[in-house]
Amino acid sequence: MTQRFPFHTLEPTFFSGLLDDPVLHLTIRPTGKGLLLDCGRIHHLAKRVMKSLSTLFISHAHMDHFMGIDTFIRSVHVAPKTIDIYGPPGLTKKMTCKLAGYDWNLAEPTWCSFRVHDVCADCIETAIFPGPEGFIRRSGDTVLRPDRTIYLDEQIKVEAEQCDHKIPSLVYRISELPSFLVDEEKLHRAGLVRGNWLRILKKHLYGSKQANEPLKVLRRQGEDIVEELVENPANLYERICGEHPAASIGYITDIGFTGKNIEKIVNLMKGVTLLVCECSFLRQDKEKARMSAHLCTDDVNILADRLRPRFFLPMHLSKSYIHTWERLYDELELPSSVTLVRLPKYLTPQPLLPCEARKIARQG
Ligand SMILES: [Zn+2]
Repeated sequence: MTQRFPFHTLEPTFFSGLLDDPVLHLTIRPTGKGLLLDCGRIHHLAKRVMKSLSTLFISHAHMDHFMGIDTFIRSVHVAPKTIDIYGPPGLTKKMTCKLAGYDWNLAEPTWCSFRVHDVCADCIETAIFPGPEGFIRRSGDTVLRPDRTIYLDEQIKVEAEQCDHKIPSLVYRISELPSFLVDEEKLHRAGLVRGNWLRILKKHLYGSKQANEPLKVLRRQGEDIVEELVENPANLYERICGEHPAASIGYITDIGFTGKNIEKIVNLMKGVTLLVCECSFLRQDKEKARMSAHLCTDDVNILADRLRPRFFLPMHLSKSYIHTWERLYDELELPSSVTLVRLPKYLTPQPLLPCEARKIARQG
């Protein structure tokens, strides 16, 4: 994925080829925090990447989306931090079984903890698995979910919607939060002059200060620059702020092409900048797509037309197309405003044969 995207905070990397298990990695600037969407085959991710991950978002627990959780646990369990994992209802139970499948008698007080969130339709149920206690499950809170937002920090917001894949499958939208931006032209027209007050205004809006506290600004008055007290800094910002469309990424995988699913997706993904979307089947196999609640190229063409993302990345093609995988791109009919992002066939390294392993050993 060499395409440059118009993001400020998000830096996406798709760690999969078209036929690999889907794994979307996001680096959040400027913190360098890492997020992972889905966790199938992930053994090719560098340990440094794994260690930077703070939060995982799982669509559903079919093996090709979740089996890498063991690799992930292996890479991070001795790190002194808490890692959040979001997924559909039942994920906590699966993590309980996963973690109970190993012996943890050598656990140390500095080991990590996993905080697992079952994202239900109207609430989020959280459980914690403290590493220092051998990852025994401790029950946590249940919080009501008044809207689709499941995660919010200073840089991004993550929203989720539960779709049907014969089991619940979550689709995610990750949006950058608007950053402080002043339009020089508007500032000039308002008769204002740059100064330290802009820094204070930013604190008013995003920091600890109250947005409704009066603020001293600098105004041009003939040849002079004078101080003036503004009663409502938030209103002032509305008049001088620059255009900064909040860029976002949509992640859709493993859903049936049903009226209900499409309605949810259209509502959630409208105006998304980059859409990463499953396309498991070619149009000749539409029936297979319907039977297994996946999408085919015809479905994806309809979605791309309804959603009109700026960039569109189809992924997760069935391995049955190992020799005909490029036909996916022939069958795509995207609106001219949508830029297609192509993937290689595979991005994961090929597994070794015994003779290849012996050759490497001889060279070493
Ligand atoms: Zn699935």
